Amino acid sequence: MTGSVDVANLNEEQAREELARLADLIGAANIAYHQSDAPQISDAEYDALKWRNSEVEGRFPHLKRSDSPSDQVGAPVSEGFSKVTHAVRMLSLGNAFDDQDMFDFQERIQRYLGTDHGIAFTVEPKIDGLSLSLRYEHGKLTVAATRGDGAVGENVTENARTIKDIPHEIQNVPDVVEVRGEVYMSHADFADLNARQSERGGKTFANPRNAAAGSLRQLDANITRERPLRFFAYAWGELSEPLALTQQGAVARLAEFGFQTNPLTQRFDTMEAALEHYRLIEAQRATLGYDIDGVVYKVDDLALQSRLGFRSTTPRWAIAHKFPAELAWTRLLGIDIQVGRTGALSPVARLDPVTVGGVVVSNATLHNEDYIQGRDSNGDPIRDGKDIRIGDWVQVYRAGDVIPKIADVDLSKRPADAAPFAFPETCPECNSPAVREEGDAVRRCTGGLICPAQAVERLKHFVARKAFDIDGLGAKQIEMFFADPILPINEPADIFTLQARDSVNLARLKNRDGWGDKSAQNLFAAIDDKRTIGFGRLLFGLGIRHVGEAAGNLIAARYGNWAEFTHAMDQAQDPTSDAYTDLIAIDGVGQVMAESLLLAFAPGAERNGIDRLVAHLTIQDAEKPKTDGSPIAGQTLVFTGALERMSRTEAKARAESLGAKVSGSISAKTDLLIAGPGAGSKAKKAADLGIKTIDEDQWIDMITGL
Ligand SMILES: [Zn+2]
Repeated sequence: MTGSVDVANLNEEQAREELARLADLIGAANIAYHQSDAPQISDAEYDALKWRNSEVEGRFPHLKRSDSPSDQVGAPVSEGFSKVTHAVRMLSLGNAFDDQDMFDFQERIQRYLGTDHGIAFTVEPKIDGLSLSLRYEHGKLTVAATRGDGAVGENVTENARTIKDIPHEIQNVPDVVEVRGEVYMSHADFADLNARQSERGGKTFANPRNAAAGSLRQLDANITRERPLRFFAYAWGELSEPLALTQQGAVARLAEFGFQTNPLTQRFDTMEAALEHYRLIEAQRATLGYDIDGVVYKVDDLALQSRLGFRSTTPRWAIAHKFPAELAWTRLLGIDIQVGRTGALSPVARLDPVTVGGVVVSNATLHNEDYIQGRDSNGDPIRDGKDIRIGDWVQVYRAGDVIPKIADVDLSKRPADAAPFAFPETCPECNSPAVREEGDAVRRCTGGLICPAQAVERLKHFVARKAFDIDGLGAKQIEMFFADPILPINEPADIFTLQARDSVNLARLKNRDGWGDKSAQNLFAAIDDKRTIGFGRLLFGLGIRHVGEAAGNLIAARYGNWAEFTHAMDQAQDPTSDAYTDLIAIDGVGQVMAESLLLAFAPGAERNGIDRLVAHLTIQDAEKPKTDGSPIAGQTLVFTGALERMSRTEAKARAESLGAKVSGSISAKTDLLIAGPGAGSKAKKAADLGIKTIDEDQWIDMITGL
């Protein structure tokens, strides 16, 4: 493959092939980045591809393609927004990666201008956001446009008006001013947004840049309004009269107009001083509160800027000095194995602490034993198949807020006595055998509830919000009570005997550090509150592998009450029984979940624990589907559009209680579509497939009285 060949060694045929390959890769990455706001490769990888492309073009200029990525600054505008042709093109910047590149940049400028005088530069952080151009006519914001492909952008005026850093009107300005800058989201706002999104079951964003881009490019400005976007101004497009004589002066004017400008922007007389400021900004990178991916240098004198002008897509008078990728080498001190709720053994790299992109990293995920061996879950080599050994020098990388990973291993520095990592075949917490089932990349402890690590994780799951949700008894308190010598909670049943045990205990809970009479009473009351529990919630709370929230409710709805269900589980232990056939016949259960469920309810320690728990509970029957008289029993329903008389959740619950299955998408298996106002493609698809469609009123008529 040409991709791994050094550019200096490419022959002409290979170079042609390589340019085609790079054009494809960069083109695909551009589309993912600009149109779907979901980059598929890291910025560093992207820069590396572009760099390699320009290197190959540099060696073989006659092979440069007509669609060369070096001539493109972005992606074409997407459908959905109207187009805006920029009065002055919005260009991107060339990149520099080290100090030498910067001195070369200065020398090119001096050569072009035919001078050996020093050049003054402004230096500013390069905000990692989305470029935006704001056109003001007679002081009023008329158009806001994204960069798009540099010549034509998207009209996002309505959305831009919702951003509080963007004034709708500016005073004492030239008749026409186009202010350009970057829309971004702060780290704090990004974290809040993702928390809110996940609470609502919405999409979360990989990093602040994606969140900013996704928020600005909303077709509904009301959504943009809810998103905490910010804007820094640092440049301009069309002007009816100049703002100043220097870059620094012009930026000061933008600040006077009422725009936020970056406080780290400064002017320097020498490249050495400018580079020092680069290092200062880099050192502050992690504490700025927003993402930057480098520093931009601009020739300060605007007369010189205009003499220097542009190459095809980049100005000669400005350059972006990128920060090194968020990579760092350090030593792997050890590999810790953590045991999860379902017994999964997760290896974690313990690293000699190292700063990666401004953040100190001392742990990295190692996923599973294949990953340590240098293979992915399909068995394909990763890191060129290099395994990871304790004592190795490893390259750590960090992308956004993702857990750090190991990018590479330096075999030349491997200690002579470093042995391949022997992944434990017994659980480090309970010594039970840890096994890998076929097709499972994960090795699991078979200790079940005798394994303290699994037991404590299961207890945390048991008290989680979607399970028993006991006020004042969260993961932290579980850690405290677990294996407590006086008042232990070692299994779920112990929660419900806590008060009784406390009352006969001389070392009362209320006398402990951090507790008092009131907090102890509150805890006991909160526990009492959950002695009555829904069947589905209980089943989910047990933390049986593969039995999630939806499955818990599904199984509960099918069996109706606990006694009937446990009886069926007893019968179903015999795989030739009708009870077994019934169980695996439940739509949405399947063999894997059935086996897991049967294992939990087979006679033995786990079942005994469940029975001990249930003795303290009143289990509410699940609303069993009323199959008799229900016109929709056994049917598959889809809801689409807005419902006005009941919420989507209620509609879904009613349908399920009447024995129907609710699906999210139309297929040949759909029996009935309930379409409210605003139903779009689903209604059309249902019509195409000849599926019966009714409106909300008809739906309510259908279920009333059932
Ligand atoms: Zn174990």
